[in-house]
Amino acid sequence: MGFRRAGRIEALDVSEIVRLTETAAQMRSAGIGIAALSTGEPDFPTPDHVVAAANQAALAGRTRYTATRGTPELRDIVATACGGGSDEVIISTGAKQVLANAMLATLDPGDEVIVPAPWWTSYPDIVTMAGGRPITVPCPLEQGFKLTADQLRAAITDRTRWLILNTPSNPSGAVYSAAELAALADVLDDFPHVWVLADEIYQHISFVPFASVREAAGRLAERMLVVNGVSKAYSMTGWRVGWGIGPKSLIDAMTAVQGQITSGASSVSQAAAVAALTGDQTLLDERRDVMRNRRDRVVARLNAIAGVNCPVPEGAIYAFPNIEAALDRLGIASDAELCQALLETAHVAVVPGRAFGSPGHLRLSFAYSDDDLDKGLTRLARFIGEQAHAG
Ligand code: PLP
Repeated sequence: MGFRRAGRIEALDVSEIVRLTETAAQMRSAGIGIAALSTGEPDFPTPDHVVAAANQAALAGRTRYTATRGTPELRDIVATACGGGSDEVIISTGAKQVLANAMLATLDPGDEVIVPAPWWTSYPDIVTMAGGRPITVPCPLEQGFKLTADQLRAAITDRTRWLILNTPSNPSGAVYSAAELAALADVLDDFPHVWVLADEIYQHISFVPFASVREAAGRLAERMLVVNGVSKAYSMTGWRVGWGIGPKSLIDAMTAVQGQITSGASSVSQAAAVAALTGDQTLLDERRDVMRNRRDRVVARLNAIAGVNCPVPEGAIYAFPNIEAALDRLGIASDAELCQALLETAHVAVVPGRAFGSPGHLRLSFAYSDDDLDKGLTRLARFIGEQAHAG
């Protein structure tokens, strides 16, 4: 088409998930019933008291620009919860914008960012967009999908600016223990030029004790950014509120970036986030218990399919089985081809591991009702079973 893009934007592509979602939508509008196991958000509604608080804020006229770095009220609540000062907090339009702000504010062309694979799809692209170089470190299932201290040490160069850690992880469900985080921090002690960005957006959907990088590696606080938000915990993905907690100098630089892109996050959404953080928290436990049951259901059914090896995710809302043995048996070349066939033939939507830097896997979300999970998994199992039989 007739427009020009900078080289680093040329390197980006519409994400595999977006493409898949669009294909599924087209098939649906053609009257084909798709069983989607691909979404990246809890299916619960936003709690009523949160919606009511937003309504009240809007009716009370809280509908104007807020301070770029967020309303004092929300920043104070976030700061108090993590034991920091409110000048160490920025509120952004979703956790994703926090990440983008951080990379745009800190990366010089060619700076390296260590991204353990499997990664959340946006990390490498945000790094690339900001002019940096994502350095992928494969962390296979055999090591629990987690970066080891030795791998970290080997990946660091003079150009390394950041290590990105995601715990609990999208897509693998891996959760780093305090000891594992401490071991990584020990390595970073030897490399004071490397900062750590911890994306803890799934903190409240952890089925094992959650360890925050801020506590496990507190001595690195002066070169640490913790990313979190209301999107996943409170089923508020559409409200677009996330935050970053880090040293004031970094938060100031990120505020400067945000000030030229979106300004402050939505005023009404920030009022809603205040209600979420200060209201009844028992829903977090209740919703986590529901997710745990769904996880168990999905993992059991996946492991019953020949050639599928699904470890038990310790957190988040995804199963990430290895399917290499199934691909071999089916004579299908890749995870992406299998996903295409599953969509077109079995009418079930799942995401290939390739989209997360770990080919040979599938990502299935368990943020669905039991009935929807059963429908999707039955189709998936039948397809793989039948194909294997035919082959
Ligand atoms: N980080 C991870 C690991 C995610 O999975 C997501 C959403 O899928 C985000 C960040 C983005 O969160 P938000 O919707 O608050 O921008």
